[in-house]
Parts: sequence; C-alpha cells; structure tokens
Amino acid sequence: MPRRGTLFDAAVLGAGPAGATAALLLAGAGHRVLIAEPRSATAPPKPCGEGLMAGGVEVLRVLGLDQVLEGARSFEQVSFIGRWGARLDLPLPSPGFAVERAALDRALRAALEEAPGITWFPGRLQARKQADGAFLLREGAAPLRARTVIVATGLAGTGLTDLPPRGWARQRMGVRRHHLAGPRSLAGVEVHSTAAGELYLTPLSNGRVNLAWLGPRACVRPEQQLEAALASAPLVAEALGPALGRAGARRLGAAPRTQVAGAGWFLAGDSAAGLDPLLGAGVTIALTTGRSAAYSAELAIGGRLEAARTGHTRRVRAEVRQRARLAEGLLALGDHPVLREGALRLLHAVPSVRDALTRLAQGPRVLQGASS
Ligand SMILES: Cc1cc2nc3c(=O)[nH]c(=O)nc-3n(C[C@H](O)[C@H](O)[C@H](O)COP(=O)(O)OP(=O)(O)OC[C@H]3O[C@@H](n4cnc5c(N)ncnc54)[C@H](O)[C@@H]3O)c2cc1C
Repeated sequence: MPRRGTLFDAAVLGAGPAGATAALLLAGAGHRVLIAEPRSATAPPKPCGEGLMAGGVEVLRVLGLDQVLEGARSFEQVSFIGRWGARLDLPLPSPGFAVERAALDRALRAALEEAPGITWFPGRLQARKQADGAFLLREGAAPLRARTVIVATGLAGTGLTDLPPRGWARQRMGVRRHHLAGPRSLAGVEVHSTAAGELYLTPLSNGRVNLAWLGPRACVRPEQQLEAALASAPLVAEALGPALGRAGARRLGAAPRTQVAGAGWFLAGDSAAGLDPLLGAGVTIALTTGRSAAYSAELAIGGRLEAARTGHTRRVRAEVRQRARLAEGLLALGDHPVLREGALRLLHAVPSVRDALTRLAQGPRVLQGASS
C-alpha cells in the first residue's frame, strides 16, 4: 500500500464501450475503480455503423442497460452485395440491434456517473509498471496508482508504456451520416461493394438509415469518396432519403496487437483488436472484451496473475481471430471485384459454408455469466 496518494484496484483508461463495460463490472463487483477519459459528455459521438451483434446485446443486458435496446430496430440478416448484384445473405441466429452510438454513449456515461466506487479522471493517463507490481498513473504530491490496468483507449490511444506492437493492417478511413429512409426498405444490414469502397447501410428506428462509407485512405477527402461511391451504387441510393446533418470521418481498423494481456494489464476493444468495421463487430467486440478484461482483472486483483493473463488472451483471440480472417478475406476479394462477385455467388449457394460464415460474423459466446 502507498503511504500517500491513492491505490485503486483497477485503472481503466478510456470510457468508450470497452472501458465503460470493464469499469462498470469491476465497480459492480465491489472494486475501487479509476476511469480516465479526456472526451467530455457533450463531444459529438464517434462515427459508427451502429450495428450491434448478439454478443454485444448480451453484455448490455448483463450491465442492466436494456433500455438502450428499447425502440432500437432489430435486424436478422447481414447481406454482402457485389458490384454487379451478386448477393450473400447471412441470416443471424440471434438478432442484432441498430443501437445509435449517441444513445449508447449517453447510457454508458450515465451508468458510470451513478455507479458507486468509480472515480473519474477527466483527461489522458499513461500507466507505468513499478517494481512492486502496481502501476503508476500520475506522479506528484497525490500520486495515482492501481493494482491492475485496463487499456481501452481505442485505435489511436496508448495508455501503457511499452504497449506491444500491432501487426500489418490496410490504411482505411470511414465516414458516417444519417439519412431519412428512401423508397427501398431494408430487410437488415447491407454491405455494398462499389468501385470506390464499401457502403454500409443500417436501418434505424423512426424511418432513418445510417450510411457508412469504408474505403482506402487517400488524398481525396473521405466525404468526397462517400459521394463517389454513392453515385456508382443506385441500389444504395434507393434506400436513402435526404441526409440528416453532416458526415463524420474516422480512421479505421488497425491490426490486433501481438499481445493483449500481461501481469496485471489487459487490453480491450479497439486497443486490443481494431478489426475493420466491414463486419460491423467493433462495438460488440469492445463490449465482450471489456467484460473479459473485467473478469481477468478480478483474478489479478486476487493474485492469480497468470490465469488472468492466459484467460483474457484466449477470450480475445476467440472473439477476434476468425472474424479478422473473414474481414481480411472480404477485403482482399475487394481488390479483385470479379473474383469477389463469383465468391459471393458461390458462398451463397452452399448452405453449410453460409452457416459457417454466419457463425463467424456473429462471433463466439466465450464468457457466460462471469463478472456479472
Ligand atoms: C465509420 C465507422 C463505422 C463503424 N461501424 C461499426 C458498426 O456498424 N458496428 C460496430 O460494432 N462497430 C463499428 N465501428 C467500430 C466501432 O466504432 C469501434 O470498434 C468501437 O468504438 C471501439 O470501442 P472502444 O471502446 O474500443 O474504443 P473507442 O470508442 O475509440 O473509445 C476509446 C476512448 O479512449 C479515450 N482515450 C484515448 N486515449 C486515452 C488515454 N491515454 N487515457 C484515457 N482515455 C483515452 C478516447 O477519448 C475514447 O473515448 C465503426 C467505426 C467507424 C469509424
């Protein structure tokens, strides 16, 4: 124990979906948690496709945040549509929900502010391991220290000295904009391949649609690339009415880190994985890996460091590895549109393959009932 300052059971860096989940579960289990987040409650929501898969829905229920799902539109299918009309429909065994990012962020922040045992730090922190095994977050007259650290700082964030490197990933950008629904109604989420990137449609409640463009980072502004892609995709345009508000742009996936846990530290969400949003699984993985990190941090607080490290590593791998391969496969096929067209037709025609892909897109159920 330090002679002065504060020693927390866990420091959670980042209050996005991954960090908020971890902090809420740890505080709910009676631990003293420090959460650091530089974004204010009034900052605009992160651009996001807004699709949430079954694994993420389950975590929201564990957190007692079911109200976010009320009024959210559910979808039971994700369709990949090629440039020349080939179509692969993946029916989901459990429905996903179109959860608007602003509503999700609001609910998570309100829960964090109400939870006993959580201390807010309104800024960035960087953790450094000390000789006694604890982590130093801030030096000075009132140092901040924690026995465990969960890094949930997103794609660009750091949060821990000597973070393990990421593997190779394509340099991509994403743009998101809400629209009124157009004359063609959507049966589920649609991902359209165009000559200028992918267009991702999520049907929202109240007659609106979320449009996201995902494509290569280039000299041209992402908003211009969105318009170019729209101009070449009449089927997408038919599903869209007038735009509501301005588009927001963001950098996309960075490859998973080579190591996602160590002695008392755990990476969650985009910090650990950073999958391309082509599969619409980023928020789901943030919620499930945030839950896994909380579970492992509890083990580490109890002194079971190795079990905590291996457990989190195994669960993150189970969430990420196959999905990363599927996303990379689809992206690689995108470089060869004729091949992608043929592959979509072929995959659609073979039910066993289609079922396997559905399971991959939906993700595993790796942590049932822990830390809840
Ligand atoms: C255009 C687009 C479309 C997408 N579509 C979908 C979709 O349809 N479905 C889906 O599931 N996902 C989608 N995603 C991905 C999804 O948005 C991310 O995977 C998700 O936000 C990851 O959550 P996170 O909690 O890991 O990180 P973030 O949401 O990025 O949160 C990280 C937080 O950490 C804070 N932070 C950074 N550094 C520090 C520090 N040193 N100390 C403290 N705090 C720090 C940041 O301010 C931030 O609030 C999309 C992304 C884009 C760009």
